[in-house]
Amino acid sequence: MMVRRKTRQVKVGAVPLGGDAPVVVQSMTSGYTHEIDNCVREINKLAAAGADIVRVAVPERKDTEALPEILRQVTVPIVADVHFHFQRALEAVEAGVHKIRLNPGNISDRQQVERVIDACRERRLPIRIGVNEGSIVERRDKQKRRRELAAVFGDDRQGRLLAIMIAKLEEYLEIFHVRNFHDLVISAKSIDPLLVIAAYTEISRRFDYPLHLGVTHAGPKETGTIRSVVPLGTLLTNGIGDTIRISYANDPIYEVQDGLELLYVLGLRPRRGAELIACPTCGRIQVDLFTLVQQVNRKLKEEITLPLKVAVMGCVVNGPGECEGADVAIFAGDKRGIIYVQGEKVANVPEEEILDTLLEHCKSFQERVRRGEARLGQKSVDIIPPAPEGDVGSGYAKIVEEKRSGARTGLTLPVVSR
Ligand code: SF4
Repeated sequence: MMVRRKTRQVKVGAVPLGGDAPVVVQSMTSGYTHEIDNCVREINKLAAAGADIVRVAVPERKDTEALPEILRQVTVPIVADVHFHFQRALEAVEAGVHKIRLNPGNISDRQQVERVIDACRERRLPIRIGVNEGSIVERRDKQKRRRELAAVFGDDRQGRLLAIMIAKLEEYLEIFHVRNFHDLVISAKSIDPLLVIAAYTEISRRFDYPLHLGVTHAGPKETGTIRSVVPLGTLLTNGIGDTIRISYANDPIYEVQDGLELLYVLGLRPRRGAELIACPTCGRIQVDLFTLVQQVNRKLKEEITLPLKVAVMGCVVNGPGECEGADVAIFAGDKRGIIYVQGEKVANVPEEEILDTLLEHCKSFQERVRRGEARLGQKSVDIIPPAPEGDVGSGYAKIVEEKRSGARTGLTLPVVSR
């Protein structure tokens, strides 16, 4: 059983972060904040996909000037991402944002930080201190920079970077502690998944501030998913992390979708909408399952709002076993599909009718659940695999042939002679 580490709680607009609040999913807009219509469109799209909080960059005055109008047109809490210019933080606070993100690597002047702290205290806004591998090395003090760069590129890079990250964080936190300001969220991002795990684990040992988990410059989704999900999943499984942002060089909508999915599979958030499971297909497949799965996935997103578990399986081998836990399931055979609702066979249709029939059963089951006539996740009837010569001609012939010829299948289905 996963036990979440206890942290303080801050409020980002109406969204509680840390403490006993559910883990929150964040993303960031990719367009210019001063292009108000685009920015609003992007924020609302991310919110509709499930983002709890959205961050926007405010590099220029025209960006903070756009914030009041943006805030009027969105409902999700907005975080202003501030680098280099502390004035942007003050302007963003004045505009009414719900949280400020500061980077100790580029806003370090004590008096400037204190002015931001005071402004946030007045508005009761939290501040995220975002220590980031990319900007951790000293930029102004040349001697210090040489020393830190030598450390970063020397032996035990990971350990040395971790030490620099923690030291800079503690140094920065001191400014906040002296001001008795504790509405803080901390992040310590790196491109190195192992450093991310080490940094957050160490920070969680030292402080009880809520933690914003992330991997910086994780790259395109194709590779960034693994790079992000491994450290974030590890930390979350260890009870560490109060909010996550998966970051891709891609449409940020994927960040939200994947962030939510990570929380769903770890049982950290109740699922919104259907959960689709599907077999990877193999040489036994006798319908176009890849296309079917994509179509089912799209339709479920459009039409199903309850967390129905839907299974799309290629044949009888694993189909019945995997389908048993599903509310609605189809397993395919010889150009046909058999559909089950909570273990009860409800249809046997040709391939071209599978999608519509499956969806109809999903929708009617959803209605039954809404009316209280059925409950999710409750199986009432065992699924019996069809006869080997079965009513769908399910690819079983191939399995029988493999068994006869002595090929290794690892299958346990009984072989029935024809
Ligand atoms: S369910 Fe059938 S088609 Fe799908 S991977 Fe398993 S054996 Fe292959």
